[in-house]
Amino acid sequence: MSDRDVLEKPKEQLFCFDPKSPSSIENQCMSRIRELENEKIKLERVLDTVNEGMITIGADEKILSINAYAKSFFSIEANPLGILFTEFVKSKQLYEIYKEALQTKKEVDHTIDVTNPSKKTLRVKSFRVKTSKESSPVVLMVFEDITNSQKLEKFRSNFVANVSHELRTPLTSIQGAIETIDAGDLKDEETLNKFLAIINRQSKRLVDLIENVLSLAKIEELEEYQELDAKEESLSKCIENSIKNVAVLAEKKQIKIESQLDKALSANMDAELLERAITSYIENAIKYSPIESMVTVKLSNREKEIYISVIDNGPGIEKKHQNRIFERFYRIDKGRSREVGGTGLGLAIVKHIAQLHGGKAQVLSEPGKGSEFMIVLPTNNLNSG
Ligand code: ADP
Repeated sequence: MSDRDVLEKPKEQLFCFDPKSPSSIENQCMSRIRELENEKIKLERVLDTVNEGMITIGADEKILSINAYAKSFFSIEANPLGILFTEFVKSKQLYEIYKEALQTKKEVDHTIDVTNPSKKTLRVKSFRVKTSKESSPVVLMVFEDITNSQKLEKFRSNFVANVSHELRTPLTSIQGAIETIDAGDLKDEETLNKFLAIINRQSKRLVDLIENVLSLAKIEELEEYQELDAKEESLSKCIENSIKNVAVLAEKKQIKIESQLDKALSANMDAELLERAITSYIENAIKYSPIESMVTVKLSNREKEIYISVIDNGPGIEKKHQNRIFERFYRIDKGRSREVGGTGLGLAIVKHIAQLHGGKAQVLSEPGKGSEFMIVLPTNNLNSG
């Protein structure tokens, strides 16, 4: 009798006895069956807690067992036991993996994309199990949904490639300038100073870039572990500190910063981080605005949300770029960003800081009409007093 037959046959047929006149052998049989059933239930419970899909399929392609994860993954509501697995699992690749596992003694390991019931990437390991010479083989298929980890891996390698590219540009400029100075054929002091200025500017860019990459990594770690070091603090004070941070930059471009702050508002926040985010917004407003223009910073309570807005009279931003500028290294005009000393990470950092505080980062803008960059915080994160 095969393993599958054992699983499919009702227990009364496996052991012939009359429950009304139990002999001691029958009693032993009954208690053994109960024991086995209990063991089976325990095993099923354990397998149901596993975060991987597990299906055993007989040589006749029928499902012998399936855990809760696999059932939910393939949206199986009816009892699938004893039914062809291709009735429920609509994937040609999974069927081929099953066939391959059935033919070989080795473990079969594949990464595949499935589209049914939704688009996912699965790592599937399959083994052929044969309990005895006479029994027909059974395939155990174990699968893991690696869609998110693959996305993350791709995202990380893109990020590393971007950072390397960004580092290479200033390093090449510095190297070029040093080689020119080293060659000793500079005509005068003015040309020497020009090259020293290049080294100075590009090293500052390198430092800013590394500093921003490290900050982003730190903020993301805080986000992952939900470890915000928050205290109830005044929001207007935080904004005033940000304005002080950019005073020199504003003066260089003769930009006036006006503030309209509701001084009563406070928030449960990491003031250092929030100050950094607001400083970034105001810095951008100054960097991208024409000289002698005006930047306005507002703090208000609107419809149960707190708005921190930085409004400028700069070039404005087309709709198609508005969401993307919060992505790492996304710039509308690369040349312009480099010219004003940008790293392409400022807004990504602001977005993460806003999210860490339960809020979001937004922009309202129209080309030629300036921009309003906002941090919106939910009022349940805040007390006004
Ligand atoms: P960067 O260091 O390049 O400024 P950010 O992440 O701070 O990087 O900003 C991303 C891009 O968004 C910038 O390169 C710029 O194109 C655009 N941007 C940011 N702030 C403004 C603004 N106030 N006005 C117009 N464009 C802006």
